[in-house]
Amino acid sequence: MEKQKIVVLGGGESGVGAALLASKKANEVFLSDFGIISKKYKKELKKNKIDFEESNHSVERILEADLVIKSPGVPCKAPIIKRLRENNVKIISEIEYGSLFFKGKIIGVTGSNGKTTTTGLIYHILLKAGKKVLVGGNYGISFCRQLLETKAKIAVLELSSFQLDDIEQFRPNIAVLLNVSPDHLDRYNYDFERYIDAKFKLIQNQKKSDILIYNKDDIKISERIKEGKYKQSKLKVKASKYINGIPSTDGKFKLKLKGEHNLFNAYCAVLVAKELGLEDDKIQDALLSFENVPHRLESVGNINGVEFINDSKATNVDATYYALKAMDKGVIWIVGGIDKGNEYEQLFPLVQTKVNSMICLGVDNAKLIKTFMGRVDVIRTTNTMEDCIRKALSLAYPGEVVLLAPACASFDLFENYEDRGDQFRAIVNKINSE
Ligand code: ADP
Repeated sequence: MEKQKIVVLGGGESGVGAALLASKKANEVFLSDFGIISKKYKKELKKNKIDFEESNHSVERILEADLVIKSPGVPCKAPIIKRLRENNVKIISEIEYGSLFFKGKIIGVTGSNGKTTTTGLIYHILLKAGKKVLVGGNYGISFCRQLLETKAKIAVLELSSFQLDDIEQFRPNIAVLLNVSPDHLDRYNYDFERYIDAKFKLIQNQKKSDILIYNKDDIKISERIKEGKYKQSKLKVKASKYINGIPSTDGKFKLKLKGEHNLFNAYCAVLVAKELGLEDDKIQDALLSFENVPHRLESVGNINGVEFINDSKATNVDATYYALKAMDKGVIWIVGGIDKGNEYEQLFPLVQTKVNSMICLGVDNAKLIKTFMGRVDVIRTTNTMEDCIRKALSLAYPGEVVLLAPACASFDLFENYEDRGDQFRAIVNKINSE
């Protein structure tokens, strides 16, 4: 490839990864971020002699680019993107840029919920089976950064809708389309169909020889597939196939993860592994040794016979639905934060049968109280995690479970969902040692 003038927009993990890769490929690289770039990334850019700016976009310089690589954090409607489009400058996503340099097989996983878990599972199964595999995308280290030095023959990529927005040619050999439920609609003009469009970009370039694993029970996904414009081989995943256990050659696979949603995620991962020719015994070993990342139905402790479960990553109603569904004991439910236009009706039957008390943890709890008044016997409100956990303890009986499954974003009281879950875990541990 000829030396190009490449501009990278966004100075987070994806942007810096892309800048490093572009620079390694001997291009002239300039990184521009309208916000602040963290110290560690600035240091890295300087060390690699990559020119950058922050708190600004030098529009004239950016418009001179031969190619712009956009980080997923930069919204499509940002003014700089509009200017670039008006000037016909080619924009591609970090994922697509990386894929230009990766010659192995690509497995792409998207959906509204379950991406991290399914991606992690697929990676773990392949790694345990001795495959040369990398994991990236929305999962830990960016794809481009991993490509700086890799022997991987398979890339397992978790792909958010933002990462798929600017896809033109990206083509996974195996795609997993988990589910779609309303989320991040602020980036899609509050239009659910546009958000689904972004998810479907994952499969738009797949050829006949490629594989699509998709959720047949998801009405929105099934409707679009039925339209018939996708030609790849399709493997349908239906609850009726896995609900009583995932079939294996000698019976059913044993799983470590709990919950119906995780049976689904695991089934998708098993199908990927089988497509790649793995034997059932290898898959079984990996399923039993898999440790999920924190904040997904993570059991963080037990105080006086009351179990505390951290599902802080349940930032939308659908994830909370599956968290509640996975509970087999009476629940003290911690919910709340920034409501994303939630519709809670889906939760009513589960809440009525499983939830004994709920604690609303947020700056503004009015909508939750109005919605659940009369459906839950006890409703309390709070705006600190410590008070929330102490209230939960005073309400819970031994044998019950305190579940943090907020159905909302965390930014009113916490830095992010990790901070919310970390505080939950730390305070449970603190009380335990008092
Ligand atoms: P993502 O990366 O898509 O956010 P995660 O695996 O991190 O997915 O899980 C996010 C939240 O969704 C967690 O609360 C988890 O318990 C829940 N979840 C996981 N898999 C599913 C699924 N298949 N359907 C619905 N909810 C799920």
